[in-house]
Amino acid sequence: AAKEAGKNTYTLFDLDSHFSRKERVRVIEQIGDAIRLGQLELYYQPKICFSRRTVVGFEALLRWNHPQEGLLGPGHFLDHIEYTEYARSVGNFVIRDAVSLLQDFEQKGLPYTLSVNLSPSHFLGPGFHNDLARALADCSGAVRARLILEILETTALDDTDRVLQNLRACDELGVDISLDDFGTGYSSLDLFRRLTAQEIKIDRSFVMDMLENTDSAMIVSAIISLTKSFRRRLVAEGIESAAVEAKLMELGCDLGQGFFYSKPLPLGQALEWAKNFSWESRALSEA
Ligand code: C2E
Ligand code: MG
Ligand code: MG
Ligand code: MG
Repeated sequence: AAKEAGKNTYTLFDLDSHFSRKERVRVIEQIGDAIRLGQLELYYQPKICFSRRTVVGFEALLRWNHPQEGLLGPGHFLDHIEYTEYARSVGNFVIRDAVSLLQDFEQKGLPYTLSVNLSPSHFLGPGFHNDLARALADCSGAVRARLILEILETTALDDTDRVLQNLRACDELGVDISLDDFGTGYSSLDLFRRLTAQEIKIDRSFVMDMLENTDSAMIVSAIISLTKSFRRRLVAEGIESAAVEAKLMELGCDLGQGFFYSKPLPLGQALEWAKNFSWESRALSEA
């Protein structure tokens, strides 16, 4: 019980010191309207397969088209609503949007996967399994198989029993799990073995400076060999240059994401980008 209390105290202290309380209150007051008025929008960043040299899918990244402040990235509002009722509403908005887009892809014969990010309190909360099952109710197995749910490695460490239970539930519903920002938490090898995520995403902080920083380079190659031995799919995020791409391919990484290929784009532009993608012209597409 002492440990629980200590943890809660820390959480409150942490939020209040990092963000101005006023800012936080304002976001919480406005986010409900934002959802209802359609101000939340998803941008899509392509995911490239190194061996097939193609676009295999996209990661959906949330933006708030704020009437006064313009386009806001998730850093401006998501932390403020975590542990409020809105974390779940936003999570459900994102999941439903992804599912309907995947159904759209299916109809158009586009075999893309779609990755969405889940907040810790939504994923670990009591309603999660129901929310997901309901969103997937009308979906074929093929559509489910293309949905990837990204949870932070740190989320997976939070409440292990619940996480393992949720991983089984996701598996039964036919969707994949990806451990995001991997390397920033402290998973034990035993936990890693039990976390039956199909995909691991190396945190971009290690990828971005792996050519200058030998520690980062060693972390990246350690994660790659660990992931390979457990036969999980490996994604590197934050690829910004051909040199980093080459190194990752040499180390045996499967998939890549980053500004070297494309920034997150509005849906129409992302699809257009993917349609025009060719491996040979990928370095030029950035310009
Ligand atoms: P993430 O899931 O690790 O997403 C990758 C972030 O890195 C995105 O930032 C993306 O724009 C950025 N990025 C991609 N390639 C590069 C690169 O080459 N260089 C650099 N410097 N950055 C790159 P973004 O869109 O600002 O999202 C930040 C974080 O917010 C995400 O990190 C994710 O944890 C969270 N997030 C985004 N959308 C959602 C959402 O719908 N729900 C939840 N719960 N969290 C979300
Ligand atoms: Mg992510
Ligand atoms: Mg990440
Ligand atoms: Mg991140």
